[in-house]
Amino acid sequence: MQPIVIIGTGLAGFNTVKEFRKLDKETPIVMLTADDGRNYSKPMLSAGFTKEKTADDLCMATPEKVSEQFNVDVRTGVHVAGIDPQKKRVLLPDDHLDYSKLVLALGADTWTPPLEGDAVGEVFSVNDLMDYAKFRAAIEGKKTITILGGGLIGCEFANDLSNGGFQVQLVEPMGRCLPLLLPEAASEAVGRGLQELGVQFHFGPLAKAVHHGDSGKLVTELSDGSKLESDVVLSAIGLRPRIDMAKEAGLSTNRGILTDKGLRTSAEDIFALGDCAEVEGHVLPYVLPLMASARALAKTLAGEPTDVSYGVMPVTIKTPACPVVVCPAPAGSEGDWEVEADGNTVQALFRGKDGNLLGYALTGDAVKEKMKLNKELPAVMP
Ligand code: FAD
Repeated sequence: MQPIVIIGTGLAGFNTVKEFRKLDKETPIVMLTADDGRNYSKPMLSAGFTKEKTADDLCMATPEKVSEQFNVDVRTGVHVAGIDPQKKRVLLPDDHLDYSKLVLALGADTWTPPLEGDAVGEVFSVNDLMDYAKFRAAIEGKKTITILGGGLIGCEFANDLSNGGFQVQLVEPMGRCLPLLLPEAASEAVGRGLQELGVQFHFGPLAKAVHHGDSGKLVTELSDGSKLESDVVLSAIGLRPRIDMAKEAGLSTNRGILTDKGLRTSAEDIFALGDCAEVEGHVLPYVLPLMASARALAKTLAGEPTDVSYGVMPVTIKTPACPVVVCPAPAGSEGDWEVEADGNTVQALFRGKDGNLLGYALTGDAVKEKMKLNKELPAVMP
């Protein structure tokens, strides 16, 4: 009997195995990962200084421990080169592996804009535990950091690194914090909270180049001509679902690997979940949706075809300088923000034309309203 093969040992791959083993203890499973396979919670990467955690502290289980606990064959440092859906085969650099069912839990790639300069190769991005270990080693004994991007990851790192005693400068071309998630008043509250911690913002210009400066520092050149000196540069511009492997194998893709509610891709016996997947049009690169997906997929793999449903999916942003919870309205929703602000406490409710609540953004003390508002919101994907 060919094994179930899962590519990816992040939260999506790991939780699929964990849920599946509650239902089926015996079916052979092989997990393949390009990284070192250590089990960790990715959201902790941008809270490491606040929680005083090194990369080793964040490792919750070694691959050996996962193998033993869940009766799986975990193969680390294996970069899967492709898939042959006709032969039901995963292509490895020097070999291949046949599967009965294949799960793509490939995650998302960091995206850095096309920067110029002789220090571009030294710009960090932190998207897994191995990146985090390298980043922590590189900033040891350093004082100043430039962060490119003021979205969720950029703002969380700005808060966390400030808590760690670093002087942070943050560049965000869209002119405010979390511009794609929050209305203006809420962005301003987050900006003020971070500023009070000492974060300096450069709103408006784009980063164009990163050079080595004369003083041994890195110099980030912005499109308005200004130059920011710092010891380290961290890119937190954005993430893109990893779709290339699926696309090359002929699977349907859009922003993510397309699946139906049963997490089935367009190829027989191939499933996708987590950051790489677009489930019935939803690309939701967060933990709650992937946990719901892992539970549904485990049942399907165990012989009980099950659709995933997404209830209300709030996202808590880890900026303790100004707490934020946001529940974005479905993409393309028509409506208006109703905003009440009192200092850094902002309650912003997004209502549709009929007055129904479709989304919210809460900052400061208003985050307490989350549970009450969740009850009013429609499910993301019933
Ligand atoms: P990943 O964890 O990226 O795993 C992908 C796996 O695929 C890896 O094992 C990788 O090695 C493997 N892989 C990829 N390509 C190949 C290949 N060709 N061959 C072999 N293996 C391959 N979400 C929240 O809900 N709340 C938060 O507070 C939050 N904070 C975050 C903070 C940061 C800094 C980041 C980066 C993300 C945060 N997120 C948060 C998002 C959340 O962490 C992700 O949605 C989730 O971890 C994605 O898990 P995944 O398993 O889909 O992908």
